[in-house]
Amino acid sequence: MLNIAIDGPAGAGKSTVAKTVAKDLGLIYLDTGAMYRATAYYALQQGIAVTDEEAVKTMLDDMSMDIKYEDGAQQIYVNGINTTPYLREHYMSKAASDISALPPVRYKMVELQRGFAKTHDVVLDGRDIGTFVLPQANCKFYMTATPEERATRRYKELIEKGQNVDYDTLLKDIMQRDYNDSHREVAPLKQADDADFVDTTAMSIEDVVAHIKEVVHIKTKPHKEEPVSTDKGISAKRAKKIKKYYQPQKSFAFYRFLRVIMRPMQAIFWPTKVVNRDNGLGVEGNAVYTCNHYSKVDTFIPCFALFKREAHILAKHELFKVPIAGWFLHKMGAIPVRRGEADIDAVKSVLKVLKDGKKLLIFPEGTRNKEGSQEMSEFKTGTARFAIRTKSPIVPMLYYTSPKLFKRNYLYIGEPFTLEEFYGARTPEQMHLATEKVRERMDETRRLCNEYVANLKKKGKKAKK
Ligand code: C5P
Repeated sequence: MLNIAIDGPAGAGKSTVAKTVAKDLGLIYLDTGAMYRATAYYALQQGIAVTDEEAVKTMLDDMSMDIKYEDGAQQIYVNGINTTPYLREHYMSKAASDISALPPVRYKMVELQRGFAKTHDVVLDGRDIGTFVLPQANCKFYMTATPEERATRRYKELIEKGQNVDYDTLLKDIMQRDYNDSHREVAPLKQADDADFVDTTAMSIEDVVAHIKEVVHIKTKPHKEEPVSTDKGISAKRAKKIKKYYQPQKSFAFYRFLRVIMRPMQAIFWPTKVVNRDNGLGVEGNAVYTCNHYSKVDTFIPCFALFKREAHILAKHELFKVPIAGWFLHKMGAIPVRRGEADIDAVKSVLKVLKDGKKLLIFPEGTRNKEGSQEMSEFKTGTARFAIRTKSPIVPMLYYTSPKLFKRNYLYIGEPFTLEEFYGARTPEQMHLATEKVRERMDETRRLCNEYVANLKKKGKKAKK
């Protein structure tokens, strides 16, 4: 049986994600929180205090619980009565948290959950699935988000349902539940050592779902050894080295040393005039530099010509396997990205770089302009997404033409701008609009760049005359 465990604190988005993953992968979804809620509901109906262990224990002897699916939705029947409609009330959360701390309750629920997992391909969400209920689960995830973000999500959800709630109370309740869940005696909330940690604070539901599906895919399908199979003539030592290249580079001392050597070389081979250098260097802290992309060399020209400190670029995953180039990219702090799939590791690395106040150089077209024309192709939404999530300013940059050997090249830097009006946005439509703004600014930079070079040429001609 395929068992996927998703654990984490209240409000991390587990149930929405688990439901979607289960639907997409054709599995059953088991909401274990609802089982504790149903137990608490039944106790309250019987007039039993949810903290009275003795009374609850006696109650459990006569309590049967059946999990059924009606039109694909989970229903929990307690002694033949469907409790599902009453479980999501706000006061039930606290009652469930209290009753779930009682060992007899836990043992009963855990037994039911194990039985269910033995006979079904299932995605379970809860607090202790990966650590206690199913330590042998095929895939384990630990999803979390900051308490403030979780309280905000719950607040919006309840307001949308027309319930009258107060944000501060919700935040307090969430923090109290976190404390209760992680300090109880039996099976407290805790990340399993082998669980994949997913911080959803700055992630959309779609991103989390894509990530989980990808990990499940990798873990459950036999796949070629990463990063390269040794039967391709690559030694185990080299394979290990390559694997290291996929990890984010931490020390940049060597990069700075490299720059001292590479900068004069770059100035000889691809002499580049950086126009409006101050626009590029004036931005303090994190920033996304957008640039048109013609050839392999233009990935590092701006790095050495403009940035004294490292600027991280995104590079095709396969390039890290190429001898020397792989090492070079790693040393420059490049982030490997698997094209054509939702590469959540790359997304995480980019967000980390920007959140750490560093610079990212990105090609908004997502690929090279092989024709070498000035016209840029359609922009991917990644640039806007990253800038919005990390509130990073964007610095538009343009090569006048594809960088030419031994000729003067121009790298024009436009006015930095922000996507402030889109902060907090998540929908595809908003990302599309934000991307349009990036495009407009790049088009404007193109106009100014061409004007600048045309003026220079005019002046040059006059001087010759
Ligand atoms: O996930 P949900 O908020 O519906 O869970 C309600 C309560 O049930 C949680 O606050 C937690 O205390 C408890 N619970 C648990 N173990 C699980 C699932 C939920 O202790 N596997």
